Amino acid sequence: MSQDEAGDLNDALSALEAWRGARSWARVAVASAKEAVPVGPRQVYLSTFYEMRRIEYALQAASSRPDTEDPRPDPWAQPIEQPDEAKEHHRVSLPLSGRLHLDCGLCFASGDVECATCQGEGSIGGGKSRRRCPSCRGAGRQDCESCRGSGGVYGRPVAVSEIKRCERMQISEASDLPVDALLELLDEEREGDVVQSHESERITEVPRRRGGYRDAARDKELDAIVAKLARDPGVPEGGQIRRQRLEVRAVPAWRVTLNDEQTVFVYGTPPRVSPKRALQSPLGKLVSLFIRSD
Ligand SMILES: [Zn+2]
Ligand SMILES: [Zn+2]
Repeated sequence: MSQDEAGDLNDALSALEAWRGARSWARVAVASAKEAVPVGPRQVYLSTFYEMRRIEYALQAASSRPDTEDPRPDPWAQPIEQPDEAKEHHRVSLPLSGRLHLDCGLCFASGDVECATCQGEGSIGGGKSRRRCPSCRGAGRQDCESCRGSGGVYGRPVAVSEIKRCERMQISEASDLPVDALLELLDEEREGDVVQSHESERITEVPRRRGGYRDAARDKELDAIVAKLARDPGVPEGGQIRRQRLEVRAVPAWRVTLNDEQTVFVYGTPPRVSPKRALQSPLGKLVSLFIRSD
């Protein structure tokens, strides 16, 4: 057995021990194992910080509905500056000059809304005590509070910018992994250690480190995953990307061959086992850990 192989077996067995240690109540056992092969799944995360803008209005009732609404300002045409290092949820607002005559959005410019007392019925109470609604006097409608019945409002515009973040994740090097393990690792919990991270305005490919060991097939798969994430990073329509962060995490995982030739996978942080019941032993049975040395 080479040094690497012995190291893998030791690491896999410590992970199995940790897994068992967390389950003493379950009477699970770790059988002796003769081989552990790393199966190397990686979680590839692409986080995107983006800016959203909108116009908010401080409203005041107008005396009438406008014949034509005043044109609404374009939030992206306003001189709002977000600091370069602005974090998620950072908000900047800029009050704009002027006052716009607009349709009332609450009543769709009709001037009235459904009566809140009778829910538009025009009457309240049941059976013999049913009587005309005192709030709307039987009309079922009441004046809109926002425009006081005129159908029109004045709005003082404020341009608002907010930094938001979205994230997508894919798994690479997963071909040897059982499906249940793969699904768990796709559950967007961060596993293992960061082996590569990179931040820039826009990430479209995997930055290469100079020198070092490189595996062409592995690089190609990672490139394809990053390209896919970059094509659709999850930014909603209207969002402007400001910067992105790529994070590649190595998930500890091994395919372990036990001495009885059974194969189990141990993977993740904290360690889990697949198939789930592979190492459950009958009540009271305790199999000690034994590494075959040949
Ligand atoms: Zn009413
Ligand atoms: Zn209204």
